[in-house]
Amino acid sequence: MNIKNISILKIHQGLKKREFSVLELTKEFLEKIKREDKDIGAFLEITEKEALEEARKIDQTISKEKDFPVLTGVPCAIKDIILVKGIRCTAGSKFLKNYIAPYDATVIKKLKEQRVVILGKTNLDEFAMGSSTENSAFFPTRNPHNLERVPGGSSGGSAAALASNFCAFALGSDTGGSIRQPASFCGVVGLKPTYGAVSRFGLIAFASSLDQIGPMARTPEDAEIVFEAIKGKDEKDSTSLYLDYLRDSKFKIQDIKIGVPKEYFIKGIDPQVEKIIKEAIKKYEERGVKIEEISLPHTEYALPCYYIIASSEASANLARYDGIRYGTSFCPVSEANSSLEVYLVNRARGFGEEVKRRIMLGTYSLSAGYYDAYYLRAQKVRRLVKKDFEQAFRKVDFIFTPVAPTPAFKLGEKTNDPLSMYLSDIFTIPVSLAGLPAVSIPVGKTEGLPVGMQIIGKPFQEKAILEIAKLYGDSGDNSENC
Ligand code: GLN
Repeated sequence: MNIKNISILKIHQGLKKREFSVLELTKEFLEKIKREDKDIGAFLEITEKEALEEARKIDQTISKEKDFPVLTGVPCAIKDIILVKGIRCTAGSKFLKNYIAPYDATVIKKLKEQRVVILGKTNLDEFAMGSSTENSAFFPTRNPHNLERVPGGSSGGSAAALASNFCAFALGSDTGGSIRQPASFCGVVGLKPTYGAVSRFGLIAFASSLDQIGPMARTPEDAEIVFEAIKGKDEKDSTSLYLDYLRDSKFKIQDIKIGVPKEYFIKGIDPQVEKIIKEAIKKYEERGVKIEEISLPHTEYALPCYYIIASSEASANLARYDGIRYGTSFCPVSEANSSLEVYLVNRARGFGEEVKRRIMLGTYSLSAGYYDAYYLRAQKVRRLVKKDFEQAFRKVDFIFTPVAPTPAFKLGEKTNDPLSMYLSDIFTIPVSLAGLPAVSIPVGKTEGLPVGMQIIGKPFQEKAILEIAKLYGDSGDNSENC
């Protein structure tokens, strides 16, 4: 059996025709991981025992079934910030290095109902704060297309696992770009759903008004299958929504109008990336789609606005990690002189540099005297960014942009310069602030490194943006994965 670039649909057909068993398939993936992940570092934990057990059980049940759900028996990988019952969940942090998830996240519950096989938990930047997976407290992940390069982040482990053929799909989470940017860097498809489309229950919180779980897959078809399985209202997440009103995804190509924002082709964008994106847009134009230049005038304020809002929310969400009720203790209470010392030692040792930077930034923005000048103002700017999109969507149906200004950068290249690291999310962050759905699809390569294009839709148009992604066709270069 050849698992290279195997899609969910192919696996489903193969299982139905009894060409291979779930156990054979699972073993194949696990062996590849064990052989090759030493060089990549995509996985924090391989759940081999559980995966093999589940595979055997699935084989038994489907041997009696003519038809079964398309995700049944499909091996996948889960970002290690999403809880899987009984399995360690670290969020890439030393603070949670011994934390065993006591329950399943809603998305996991839903995937288990479809009977997927979970192969393991993937590496990430600590608490999903970062763009390169170098902020993992354990080890960095490498880009399978070039081991000197980062896979992007924070869902770098999931993207690298997929690009290395270690799984058939993966789950990531996206707060400001963490599904789309690593998908772009690793040459896979990554969907950030509309805020509220997927339950956040069981996702360790970073910035609750922005966090969303989404699929990473080889093709838009596969991403759609996974999205369909995980979406929907959940009474355990009050920000999740009913999706009965999913907009119609049927349209005629000639009727589609695509907006290309002029603010996204600015100084600082790699000329090769710009060329590849423009060629991809041209391809759509040749197919009869109308292309129009649009303006999203508040784009330049999105990045500072995001770093205030996301850090403020992070400072509140991460306040619970004290090493007493939450997280590993680095300072036994019996050895401390005061309770303050316990908090200080635990938080100083438990969190990494980037997380501490965000907590300090966020605490400052929320403090009395600075709240109005920073947090409140950022909320107002967020509204303006959202309005830009609303206005643009009165004229066009979808918006095309680059996912990131550059292809994957070198390991270590940006670790000492947080601002340049933050800039790698400049094109994904506005979409997050506006809560819109967007997909990253591979549209080319420069010097062997993949480049992704971002397709943005109106709220709850994830089906439609995936249809647009499918139009790009086989030339999406998916086939060239390692
Ligand atoms: N790179 C961005 C950050 O560091 C986005 C992270 C994310 O989407 N989780 O905040």
